[in-house]
Amino acid sequence: QANERESLYLVSEFAKEYFHKTLLETEEGKAIGKSYFKERGFSDATIKKFSLGYSPEGWTAFTDEALKNGYQLSYLEKTGLTIVKGEKKFDRFKGRVMFPILSMSGRTLGFGGRILKTDKKAAKYLNSPESEIYHKSKVLYGIYHAKQSIAKEDNCYLVEGYTDVIQFHQRGIENVVSSSGTALTPEQIRLVNRLTKNITVLFDGDAAGLRASLRGVDLILEQGMNVKICTFPEGEDPDSFAREHSLEDLTRYLEEQAQDFIAFKASLLANEAKNDPVKKADTIRDMVVSISKIPDVIKQEVYIKECSRIMDISEEVLFNTLAQLLQKER
Ligand code: ATP
Ligand code: MN
Ligand code: MN
Ligand code: MN
Repeated sequence: QANERESLYLVSEFAKEYFHKTLLETEEGKAIGKSYFKERGFSDATIKKFSLGYSPEGWTAFTDEALKNGYQLSYLEKTGLTIVKGEKKFDRFKGRVMFPILSMSGRTLGFGGRILKTDKKAAKYLNSPESEIYHKSKVLYGIYHAKQSIAKEDNCYLVEGYTDVIQFHQRGIENVVSSSGTALTPEQIRLVNRLTKNITVLFDGDAAGLRASLRGVDLILEQGMNVKICTFPEGEDPDSFAREHSLEDLTRYLEEQAQDFIAFKASLLANEAKNDPVKKADTIRDMVVSISKIPDVIKQEVYIKECSRIMDISEEVLFNTLAQLLQKER
């Protein structure tokens, strides 16, 4: 229903402004939320650009304000901003700094909220639940602020988190989006595919999940896009690295470190499977699966040759494996 969706958009827009104002204008927001962002090195202009906010402690501060302003409880509940349990209602986001998630056209769809101290038991980030307007598999954080730059640069940096996107902007790199911790989906890639055929994936410097994330990268190849991979030093992520380096150094790092995806994966896997024949066989199959996702047969051949060289396997074996895989898919 168009009307209901419109109402959910309006409630979300109100919430974005409420959290932003609370950060900038209330004692609690300034003392806790704003000083948190300042500590992370976010400028006033950055806070404004991304409409960063703060959700107060207490149980119903936001919900009360929204109801007072005439927003219906049913819409507050459907966006997940208010949790309703029988007679009781309370705010989903309490005592968190808030990152509004915008659509390609700049409408507020949902929120990510971060707790201030990670020693608490609560999850570090809490997100809006799925709703009629927020489908987490279909949005990319930062796409609204990145779209022009992605088209202009003809490349898109894909990072893990909200703060990576924001810190890059502050340093002057604007063609950057984040899947915000979820596994990459075909719909998310399609959003970028409309703007450029080139994606550079920037992984946090924590080996955790690197191999799992590489699977998401196959989805990018499937859409006929070119993929490069860039990793950061142990313990760093794009946010921390951008904060510690000048734009010039950051740009140089990205240019020098970005490797073609196939070459990156082949050397990573070859290294893991060095002296283990069984593992090596798995690895070869894994590589060929990636190559089989590439729609362009000429590119496939180029990659088979490169893979053969990196992994020290004959081209013939690789081509045969590829042929078997493609046969199976039919
Ligand atoms: P920070 O620098 O604020 O600690 P980060 O962005 O570096 O955050 P990571 O741990 O690298 O955080 O996670 C990347 C992204 O994954 C986050 O930005 C967030 O979107 C998502 N994420 C992380 N932890 C959680 C969690 N506990 N629940 C839900 N999403 C999470
Ligand atoms: Mn991480
Ligand atoms: Mn991170
Ligand atoms: Mn981080």
